[in-house]
Formats: sequence, structure tokens, C-alpha cells
Amino acid sequence: MKLHELTLCQAREKLRRKEISAVELCRAILARLEEVEPRVQAFLSVDPDRALRRAAEIDSEEVAWKDGRPLAGIPLAIKDVICTRGWRTTCGSKILYNFVPPYDATATRKLLEAGAVLVGKTNMDEFAMGSSTENSAYQITRNPWDLDRVPGGSSGGSGAAVAAHQALGALGTDTGGSIRQPAAFCGVVGLKPTYGRVSRYGLVAFASSLDQIGPIGKDVRDTALLLEAIAGFDPQDSTSVNRPVPRYSQWLEGDVRGMKVGFAREFFVEGLDPEVRAAVERALRLLEGMGCEVLELSLPHTPYAIAAYYIVAPAEASSNLARYDGVKYGYRAPEGATLSDMYSLTRSQGFGPEVKRRIMIGTYALSAGYYDAYYLKALKVRTLIKQDYLDAFQRVDFIASPTAPTPPFKIGEKTEDPLAMYLCDVYTVPINLAGLPSISVPCAFTPEGLPIGLQLTGRYFEEERLLRIAYAFEQAANLQRPPLKV
Ligand code: GLN
Repeated sequence: MKLHELTLCQAREKLRRKEISAVELCRAILARLEEVEPRVQAFLSVDPDRALRRAAEIDSEEVAWKDGRPLAGIPLAIKDVICTRGWRTTCGSKILYNFVPPYDATATRKLLEAGAVLVGKTNMDEFAMGSSTENSAYQITRNPWDLDRVPGGSSGGSGAAVAAHQALGALGTDTGGSIRQPAAFCGVVGLKPTYGRVSRYGLVAFASSLDQIGPIGKDVRDTALLLEAIAGFDPQDSTSVNRPVPRYSQWLEGDVRGMKVGFAREFFVEGLDPEVRAAVERALRLLEGMGCEVLELSLPHTPYAIAAYYIVAPAEASSNLARYDGVKYGYRAPEGATLSDMYSLTRSQGFGPEVKRRIMIGTYALSAGYYDAYYLKALKVRTLIKQDYLDAFQRVDFIASPTAPTPPFKIGEKTEDPLAMYLCDVYTVPINLAGLPSISVPCAFTPEGLPIGLQLTGRYFEEERLLRIAYAFEQAANLQRPPLKV
């Protein structure tokens, strides 16, 4: 097996046993990255020298092999919306084309403290708004299973990079599905933690009450290990929660018999692709075969989730994105006779069409006279959705659904129709509205070789149980993967 094809945990074992060095591993990943990147286009920036210097540093550190450095020498990628000190962080936007953060996000810092080697920053939909990575101001990332298709979004670069073996794992962010949906589309594992489990400090805000950073890994074990490294209380994020972080990676093996898995009637939406439906039905039968009890239930407010999300998220975005005015950092329009001309030229030149659409929707929903009708109403729906889940979790331990209603679609297929794009999120957004932890695990490949993801959602802060059932499912499913198209 080639070094880049190793899982994170396999690579870690080899490093620990000194069969390979961090520099060797880093070179192998960089070579792979260079080989496939012209086709995949997963990265907005790569810094090979920085990565190799860092790997050499890790090789020279004896302490690296002690427990305190669980990711020592592991090459990882980070979505370009998470700050990296001294390393450009663009959010996929022209407005931040030259932004070099003077500090690391807490998640970045934690990866570095765990010994990780950062190879690059990954492409994304501008400010994480999108489901295909086509809204990036810079480039289109392609799905490694079919280069004519999208990798999902908005963390499409992270999903594609992990699938194409350009990194051994990656960080993404999920506001309405942006970790899980690209993970599903790229045939890898992605976990959105409970809101508050991972610090948002240094994550450039899209919709602050929904955003969470989370891991994308080649398998469940890798994902668990990455979550372990980034989770935890952070005094710099007042919404992070002060609870101990379990050793997720040590929770994986274990019995799942008797666990109850719910499937909601509302999940059979119009637009659910028959192959996805069949794959998820097979997955539910497999869970039964593993000794889980599968129950049908109802999450009655699910049909309103998309509408509520596309009020709440743009409302928060319109406020968060007010800071990009060309004054202190980022792009500034060169012309503009007055300050207010400068603001408006900067924003009209700096933001792409989807970001502008969201700012307009959000500003409208928050404006006097419409606030009650839209924003306040959406918040009420949000509470009802949350209550649906709380009720359901009285009866079941997990809720299963497709991650996305279709397999990865063709590049350009939905770019003209924002609503069609928003509908990619039907299964993922309710979970962000409720703040629950949720994971996408590959459950099938279509006859054309496209991956399909199963989404499993758990109770608040029960990531360890979620990872356990996902791991058991992954073992039982033992998917045969078709060859990558890169
Ligand atoms: N696709 C959704 C949106 O466009 C979710 C994005 C995300 O999770 N960042 O808002």
C-alpha cells in the first residue's frame, strides 16, 4: 500500500514504530497532492516548505511519541474559513483574498499542539454558503469519484482532499450540512459535533448560532481521533461548553445490540433519489442485522426546516458579514470618491452572487416590519424542530436518514437554481437548527461508482455513542469501493 493511501491511524502506527518518518510521510502526501491536484483542485493554498519543516521538527522531537501528541507527524488539511496564523485564509472569497490572520483558530492550535503537519487550506463555497463548492471565488473542486461531478459543499475541498488521499484527514465546518454532505458525496466520514463541543474561536463566522467545526476522515476511527484533538472548552468562545472530552477513539469497539434507531416518515421527501432511498433502506436492514432495533417515528416539523434555516442563517450572515467594508483588512475597491462609495464598491466587487443573495435575504428578514413575520417566526419553528428531536430521543438512541437526497450531481447542474441547491440540505439543516451531533458514513456506491452517505444523529454531547454505532456500521457494511477517478 502506498503511504498516501494509509488511514490516519495506520500512518500513526507506522510513525510510532519508526517504520517511517514524518518527513517521509509528508513527502508522500505532497507528491500525491501535486499529482492529482491539477484534476481535483481541492486546495486554495499549499505550503510544501512549511509542511516539510514542520515534519522535520516533529521527527526531531522525542516527546512527539508520547501521549500528548496524538497526531504527531500527521499531514492534514484545513478548510479556508478557519484561521491559520501567518497563512492566508480567504473563506473562498475575493473580499479576503489577501487576509493573513495574525492568530490561529483554537481548532488549528489544537491540531498543531497534537503534532499535526498542515499541508494546505482547502477550497470552499464563499463564506461556506453553498452545497457544491461551485460558489468559491477561485476554482471549482471536482469529485474524485467522477471529475464531472461536484464534491458537495461547502467543505468540498476538504472532502475531496481526504477522498483523493491528498491529506490524511481534514477540518470542515457545518452550518447546515457542510461537513456531512461533502463527506457523503466524497465517500468519506464527516462529523458535525454538538453545538458548543468545538470552539468557534478563529472560525470566520457565517451563522454563529449554527456553525460548528468538525472532522472529515477516511474512516470512523480517524474521525474520532480528530474530534478528540479539537473538542473541548475554550474561554475564547463563550458558546463552547465546559464538559470533559471523552477519548472518542477508545469508545469505538463495543456492543450496539439493543440500540434503538429511528427513521422518520418525513424523510421520504419528494426528490429523494430512488438509489439513495434503496441504499438507506439496506443500511437500516443492516443495522437491524447488527442487533439494533429500527423504529419508525415522526419529526413533524421537518418539512419547515429548510424555510426556517434559509431565514435564520442569512439573517445571521447579513450581520456577520457587515464587517467586510474595505477599511481594516481584505479587499478595498480602488475607486470611490466618498467613504460610503468605497464601502459599497468594495462590497459589490468583493462578494459573489450567492453571498449577496444571502445578505439581501437576511437584511430583509431582519428589517423593521418583517422581523416578526420572518425572523421571529423562523426562530419559533426552530424551537419546534428542536422539540421534535427531544421527543424522538425519548424513544430512540439515534436517528438515521440519508445525508443528502441524491448522489453527487454534475458540475453546473444546479447553479442556475438556488432553490434546487438549497434542497440538497433537507436532511442536514434540521440538525443544525437543533444543535445536535451528526455523522455521515458511506453506506453504498451507485452502479456508476458514486458514493452515498448514511446520516446518523445522536443526543446532545453523545458523540462517543454516535461514533460507536457509526464504527459498527462501517465494519458490518464493509463497503467495496470502486476505483477513484483521479
Ligand atoms: N448548504 C448550506 C448553505 O448553503 C449549508 C452550508 C454550510 O453548512 N456551511 O447554507
